[in-house]
Amino acid sequence: MTLLPEHILNGYRHFIEGRYLAETQTYRSLARDGQAPETMVIACCDSRAAPETVFGAAPGELFVVRNVANLVPPYTPDGEFHGTSAALEFAVQALRVRHVVVMGHGRCGGIKAALDPASSPLSPGDFIGKWMSLVETEARQVSANELLTTSEKQTALERISIRLSLANLRTFPCVSQLEAKGKLTLHGAWFDISTGELWAMDPTTGDFQRPLIDVEIAAIQAK
Ligand SMILES: [Zn+2]
Repeated sequence: MTLLPEHILNGYRHFIEGRYLAETQTYRSLARDGQAPETMVIACCDSRAAPETVFGAAPGELFVVRNVANLVPPYTPDGEFHGTSAALEFAVQALRVRHVVVMGHGRCGGIKAALDPASSPLSPGDFIGKWMSLVETEARQVSANELLTTSEKQTALERISIRLSLANLRTFPCVSQLEAKGKLTLHGAWFDISTGELWAMDPTTGDFQRPLIDVEIAAIQAK
């Protein structure tokens, strides 16, 4: 009987003999003292856009919640099961993170499904259709714009949904109160899987720009 897939076990072996061994003291002190991450990241489940990898995070550094298309639902205390809201509440109220980053990414399957709800493989089943209805209005508006190509629509909705998630974050009283006191800052980011570019949202205009001069990316593009 195989308890875990082989590649998973190989990955673990690599981790325990490499990173864990090198950073044993860090893991031990985190175990003893508890975590105190300064930043929460809300990212997509997409296997190509892991925040810990993109931001080169050390253990204990990022508090991460991932869901389809990195969406934040509006504050809805209705007694239902709200996984993302629970993680947000814990990060903001218990861990007292100083920053919340909503990170979207290029070629997002969830966003693609929102733009084309009938397309496979993400045709609405029990949950995805309902979840992506969080951006239904925006998806309809972007889809209706015949001046945009398919890929332009995709990128536009990926970025619009980040702005929407930031607006929804502010519907949580704990978020808006701490933000008003200057104890919490909200950020938007967008990662381009194909080029490695990271774009960050200007909080005033909502536009996305590249915060780093990309010497390394030039080297990647030359490959
Ligand atoms: Zn995605």
